[in-house]
Amino acid sequence: MGPSTLDTAMNCPFCGNPDSRVLDSRPSDEGSVIRRRRECPACKRRFTTYERAQVEPLLVVKRSGRKETFDPNKLLRGLSLAAQKRPIDPEVLQEFAFGFEDTVKEMEITSEEIGLRSLAFLKELDPVAYIRFASVYREFDSLENFIEEVRKLDRKPGRGRKTLKMEEEDELNLADEVKLGTV
Ligand SMILES: [Zn+2]
Repeated sequence: MGPSTLDTAMNCPFCGNPDSRVLDSRPSDEGSVIRRRRECPACKRRFTTYERAQVEPLLVVKRSGRKETFDPNKLLRGLSLAAQKRPIDPEVLQEFAFGFEDTVKEMEITSEEIGLRSLAFLKELDPVAYIRFASVYREFDSLENFIEEVRKLDRKPGRGRKTLKMEEEDELNLADEVKLGTV
């Protein structure tokens, strides 16, 4: 594929434009993932996608016991919402979400474990994004529910103080639960 290839596989994470121009493609260190540098023709912003040739998809065991195929884009959406308006390089989140499968040796992982690993990652990155993620992820069965909840919070003005207090309490509760191994 040439440097001017248009590819419809990935929407622009900034404006949602369905097309992006591939500027550069190269395999990652492991060779199983192709890293593509892209530019959105609509908003001209640049981003990176990671595409992997998948043989055995990782399964996520949800709280309900239901299993689904791990979706790095879904994880990335959750992380990006927690990181909204924070000084975080979007590529750092992409690297984490698209490299996540390579860090799991087992065939299955629980949604709780994904949440905890994401928290450990965000904690190093940004305290606000960490608290946002911590305060909501464990209340919901799925990242879709989490995303919906974050959107609702964003739509409500004037809840800043109360929400922050609730988040602090949730963070303490989470820390206790992690210690007790009940999360
Ligand atoms: Zn765009």
